[in-house]
Amino acid sequence: MSGSPQGDLRKIYEQAAAEISGRPELICELSGRCCRFREAGHELYLTALEFEEMVAHGGFPAGQEDRCPWYQGGLCANREGRALACRSYFCSDETSSAAVTERWHKAIRELHEEWDLPYVYQSLGIHWNQREESASKEVET
Ligand code: SF4
Repeated sequence: MSGSPQGDLRKIYEQAAAEISGRPELICELSGRCCRFREAGHELYLTALEFEEMVAHGGFPAGQEDRCPWYQGGLCANREGRALACRSYFCSDETSSAAVTERWHKAIRELHEEWDLPYVYQSLGIHWNQREESASKEVET
């Protein structure tokens, strides 16, 4: 454990990156396919802790219905804060990607237990809507 859950999350990201750097079959071609959700037919799933890390680094840009809100100008505008699934997904080998994601996601789940945090794992769209709702409630009060 480090000084905070966010610190531990960043350590897990670093450990995942170290594993990925030693796996030459995992290549990101910067196609952006994984960020254009509707086109790819998938969604980004992440924990609330990861979502808060994304917002902390990338702010809260205006939403885009069919893609990740941080996908801008054909590139990720939130490289620093992006979630595990962004770091561990590779078009070049989706099976190996899934195994890497599962392994390090398990570490994130254990982090929640160590810090006694509620484990909320859901799509980016749901995190986003909940965040917008709570922001509008704050404005009303
Ligand atoms: S955070 Fe970046 S890498 Fe992840 S889906 Fe969004 S644009 Fe793509």
